[in-house]
Amino acid sequence: MTNPSLLILPGDGIGPEVMTEVRKIIDWFGAKRDLVFDVSEDLVGGCAYDKHGTPLHDDTMAKAQEVDAVLLGAVGGPKYDSLDFSLKPERGLLRLRKEMDLYANLRPAQCFDALADFSSLKKDVVAGLDIMIVRELTSGVYFGEPRGIFEEGNERVGINTQRYTESEIDRVARSAFELAMRRNKKLCSMEKGNVMESGVLWREVVIEVGKDYPEVELSHMYADAGAMQLTRWPKQFDVIVTDNLFGDLLSDLAAMLTGSLGMLPSASLGAPMENGRPKALYEPVHGSAPDIAGQGKANPIACILSFAMALRYSFDQGAEADRLEQAVEAVLAQGLRTADLLGEEGVTPVSTAEMGDAIVAALDATV
Ligand code: NAD
Repeated sequence: MTNPSLLILPGDGIGPEVMTEVRKIIDWFGAKRDLVFDVSEDLVGGCAYDKHGTPLHDDTMAKAQEVDAVLLGAVGGPKYDSLDFSLKPERGLLRLRKEMDLYANLRPAQCFDALADFSSLKKDVVAGLDIMIVRELTSGVYFGEPRGIFEEGNERVGINTQRYTESEIDRVARSAFELAMRRNKKLCSMEKGNVMESGVLWREVVIEVGKDYPEVELSHMYADAGAMQLTRWPKQFDVIVTDNLFGDLLSDLAAMLTGSLGMLPSASLGAPMENGRPKALYEPVHGSAPDIAGQGKANPIACILSFAMALRYSFDQGAEADRLEQAVEAVLAQGLRTADLLGEEGVTPVSTAEMGDAIVAALDATV
């Protein structure tokens, strides 16, 4: 049997620094759990522009289409700010998402006990929180036509169009139901069907898809009420599915319930490939953090947890993903903190590399 394949795109700024720590984890799974990946590495973003004059070379795009999963660090930096829009580092990432047709964006909001004080909410509201927001990523108001700024009479009008086809709703709803089946079999769909026809259709299609998943308890909420409930008592939710615009807002809101940007992983999934695995891109939510790049200050946990998501959703290694998340939890419980998580008394400041090494040591302690 061939090993599962993984394309690593460290990118710019702190991307390569955090990815170095992920490579230690990948090596650990190969050496200690006999879970060997065929890893290849390539360029994306500013570093790809420096070498090839484009933020994503066609060869890299072709590789991304072939592998079982792509793991990306971060792209961008001030050096590239004056480039034409089409050459900016972020265009490399957008091309990957578009050409791989990654329509389901998974954003977990998980609160590690040791960091519960970091939330802006009360500890008992967030301690033990573990929810997942599934955001539709390739359609909706960010893509709908017509769009633009037009002359109308003696003034201008700005137009964007919220547009969803039944099949677009169907496929992201299916991703969310599948996820709910692997978790606590609870799904809440959010839209604004009270004022938007696209929301009415969204709810109808989600209910229809739900007939294929009778074990999942399906509920519905208007997205504005959902935002309130997420801050009032987030633990009432397990999986939430929503459209591109509401998902953009709600996933940021939910993620920040749990603390630092340096802790937040994500996955973007597309249609199943021939081998049954979904097309997949895993990446931390944070950017390239040019303000701390090259200083050993970056928190590698968001990228490491993105690899844990790859283990779970691309490689069917849920138990090993649990092992990795528990190792992260253990290291935080020991009081080790990168610069973004300092502030409490009695914690031990560590560098990016020391955090990676500590997680490897915590993994060692599990076998
Ligand atoms: P950013 O996420 O890079 O940084 C925001 C703040 O959070 C900074 O103070 C940074 O030091 C801190 N931070 C981020 N990640 C951290 C980590 N892992 N550990 C510790 N601290 C961390 O966002 P920004 O400053 O708005 O953008 C910087 C560059 O990154 C820009 O070029 C932007 O376009 C790009 N960007 C890329 C992505 C991506 O690759 N997915 C996402 C967002 C921004």
